[in-house]
Amino acid sequence: MYEGDIASVLISEDEIRRRTVELAEEIAKRYPEGAPEGDLLLVGVLKGAIFFMTDFARALPIPTQMEFMAVSSYGSSTSSSGVVRILKDLDKDIAGRHVLIVEDIIDSGLTLSWLMRNLSSRNPASLEVVTLLRKPDAIKVDVNVANVGFDIPNEFVVGYGLDYAERYRDLPYIGTLEPSVYGG
Ligand code: 5GP
Ligand code: MG
Ligand code: MG
Repeated sequence: MYEGDIASVLISEDEIRRRTVELAEEIAKRYPEGAPEGDLLLVGVLKGAIFFMTDFARALPIPTQMEFMAVSSYGSSTSSSGVVRILKDLDKDIAGRHVLIVEDIIDSGLTLSWLMRNLSSRNPASLEVVTLLRKPDAIKVDVNVANVGFDIPNEFVVGYGLDYAERYRDLPYIGTLEPSVYGG
């Protein structure tokens, strides 16, 4: 698949699977198993987080409910400005709920810090983040991300939900692209 486009596999399917189970087991310990309205609410950020969200939810040994948001950050295609527009909002009120934002990748951290502020203003019982990937620049923005799958180098990656011009999301691993793909 996508023969000739992938320069290297950064994180294999197997590594993703193992780390997802580890994260899920650690995180589950911090939440009580309660009444249905007490279930942990996973908020997936479309579209990048979809594969991680579904695998993570199935690895969690506690009941969860799922909601999705889609946001778009203004700025160039390669760097975000921190000004965010909601393309799809949550369907439900999250007041009093234990909310865990499920993210694909934190790069500058600007999108996430906006999202954290937006969701906190809706008065959840708790608000945390789990992200599959994090890049070094993310540390410049003070957002409290307790749960990180992998810290990766400052390179553009695709696969397992992450796209380049909407392609490569369906790869089962995280990889880097050949420069020829960008027209290089
Ligand atoms: P931030 O506001 O943290 O800079 O932006 C994060 C968003 O930028 C991610 O949700 C993702 O959509 C996009 N992004 C950042 N780095 C990469 C990358 O290496 N590959 C891909 N495909 N998207 C990225
Ligand atoms: Mg994202
Ligand atoms: Mg994208």
